[in-house]
Amino acid sequence: MDEESRIERHLRVSVKKMGGMAVKFTSPGLDGVPDRIVLLPGRKIAFVELKAPGKKPRPLQEKRMRQLKSLGFPVYVIDGVEQIGGVLDEICAT
Ligand SMILES: [Mg+2]
Repeated sequence: MDEESRIERHLRVSVKKMGGMAVKFTSPGLDGVPDRIVLLPGRKIAFVELKAPGKKPRPLQEKRMRQLKSLGFPVYVIDGVEQIGGVLDEICAT
């Protein structure tokens, strides 16, 4: 399993423990959308792009993130398992 998949699995398990879902997001005909939609109790929603440690989103991924942010949705990039707790706390606080 590659590093990004390992981080993704941690995210999925952590979100599930909180009673939520981290749904895989692919959109036919629209490349570069974030990897997961995180849904948490209380109508919390955020998009998460997962990367291997030290890797940055590609330009098209950056564009999709800007589009979602401009619609008012929280979007996060996670490239390490140690970031997951903080991001989930932040989503809960939105
Ligand atoms: Mg990714």
